[in-house]
Amino acid sequence: METTLDRPLDFIRQIIAEDLKSGKHKQVITRFPPEPNGFLHIGHAKSICLNFGIARENNSVCHLRFDDTNPGKESTEYVDSIQEDVHWLGFDWGEHLYYSSDYFDKLYDFAVELIQKGKAYVCHLNSEEMRRYRGTLTEPGKESPYRNRSVEENLALFNQMKNGDFEEGTCALRAKIDMASPNIIMRDPVIYRIMKTAHHRTGDRWCIYPMYDFTHCLSDMLEKITHSLCTLEFENNRALYDWVLDTLKTPCHPQQIEFARLNINFTVMSKRKLLQLVEENYVSGWDDPRMLTISGLRRRGYTPASIRNFCDGIGIGKRGSWIDMGVLENAVRDDLNVRAPRVLGVLRPLKVVITNYPEEQVEELEALNHPQHPEMGSRMVPFCREIYVEQNDFMEDAPRKFFRLSVGREVRLRYAYLITCREVIKDEEGNVIELRCTYDPETRGGSAPDGRKVKGTIHWVSAPHALQAEIRLYDRLFSVENPDMDKEKDFKEFVNPDSLQILENSMLEPSLKKATATDRFQFERQGYFCLDSRDSTPEAPVFNRIVTLRDSWAKLTRKK
Ligand code: ATP
Ligand code: MG
Repeated sequence: METTLDRPLDFIRQIIAEDLKSGKHKQVITRFPPEPNGFLHIGHAKSICLNFGIARENNSVCHLRFDDTNPGKESTEYVDSIQEDVHWLGFDWGEHLYYSSDYFDKLYDFAVELIQKGKAYVCHLNSEEMRRYRGTLTEPGKESPYRNRSVEENLALFNQMKNGDFEEGTCALRAKIDMASPNIIMRDPVIYRIMKTAHHRTGDRWCIYPMYDFTHCLSDMLEKITHSLCTLEFENNRALYDWVLDTLKTPCHPQQIEFARLNINFTVMSKRKLLQLVEENYVSGWDDPRMLTISGLRRRGYTPASIRNFCDGIGIGKRGSWIDMGVLENAVRDDLNVRAPRVLGVLRPLKVVITNYPEEQVEELEALNHPQHPEMGSRMVPFCREIYVEQNDFMEDAPRKFFRLSVGREVRLRYAYLITCREVIKDEEGNVIELRCTYDPETRGGSAPDGRKVKGTIHWVSAPHALQAEIRLYDRLFSVENPDMDKEKDFKEFVNPDSLQILENSMLEPSLKKATATDRFQFERQGYFCLDSRDSTPEAPVFNRIVTLRDSWAKLTRKK
């Protein structure tokens, strides 16, 4: 697989290189730890490319670990989709597939050990009281009245918690650290809570579940992870990560390093919000092609390489930053520009009758699959008396610089002939429904033997041979750069009502009848397209526009 690491190492790769050089580690082990409570999105792709990328560069392994300690929101549907997405992106965890829930017994034992060391206690404050006791950024917290229970009492109570003797919310196990710590996370955080909810893997075995901060460091430790990479919002949690491992004197102590999360404008990037879009039917599902989920991008037609290149290109830093949606779109353009064969497809067809072309005649004309890459070969496209052109390639009262069809003007049909528009046919309401044109039989291939200049070249398809298809054009799902900007308003108010446009009667060149789900094409002048993997059938093909040929948004902003 290609990598684009031809620039200086980012700060995480620098740390790793130094650790290997100094002998601190002989081998680097990373992990990607998703919670199976939703589908993966482009932000996760950044973390996947980082963790699996580092493993690959160091001939090592990256573990896939499901961080499944919150049974209410998690499911095997999500577990399966996450595995599919990581594989699709081109990464493999080999035999290193883990679940935090596999460690529930060990985690319980570690909690018992903390109690035995006098470093954890069962607390009966309810969540409201706990919040009040916690203090604020400027005021220290207050110690819980249950804080100084004996080890024996705590062991007995924790055992009762495990046996289901207490109701949810009535008590919790807390680490005994420092209620006056300037880092609020260290003010006796809850490490186990009661939750009488079945778990998708452990069923009804447990009614207490460990909290993230307790689970994560110990899972990393059990798997001998060397570098535990996470996003910046966990910076304050690092103290707790280290406290748990230090207090338990574990044989290995992974290093947590934080990096900036990926934010992209014109979208939202939290699973909770993406779930709302799905559940409230703003989109057709997690894999809606407008969603920046991995499955949405896949269905839209993005290639794994384009996403990897995007992630490599944005780099890894310490400071949070916003990436323009256009950067992601350019990544897929760059990739498809090289690899996608060119075809002719008319999105909004207008019929053209070439009046001087013999009625029964059909010619096969040669068309290049990629004008810049002749090695990609050519194909034959049929040409006859009736063809379709794009509606907006005709203009009745055309300005002088309109180099396409208008009565009396001549244009080149790509790979075919020069034609001249002679007559416009309209329906009763005055809509243009057909053009009558003549062709110059001497111009086969598109150039005139007398050397006359014809500026415009337009695409077309033969009417009787065309493949009729539905085309879906996508725009950004949100009409503002930051849908979360207005605290008074719900982000869903900014959903772009025109983000999906359906064209039901597009006409495509007949070679597209052979298109398969993994093919991607450039429809000349229209963008990149692929079959919709969910809705397309051989009888009723549906194509998605992956991306336009140029960044139309950049042009708009420049104009302003
Ligand atoms: P979300 O906020 O979207 O719900 P999350 O962080 O809760 O995401 P997890 O399943 O816990 O989702 O994330 C798995 C890994 O992916 C974590 O290490 C997390 O830091 C990383 N990750 C999630 N979102 C991003 C992002 N936008 N940029 C970079 N890494 C991310
Ligand atoms: Mg999370």
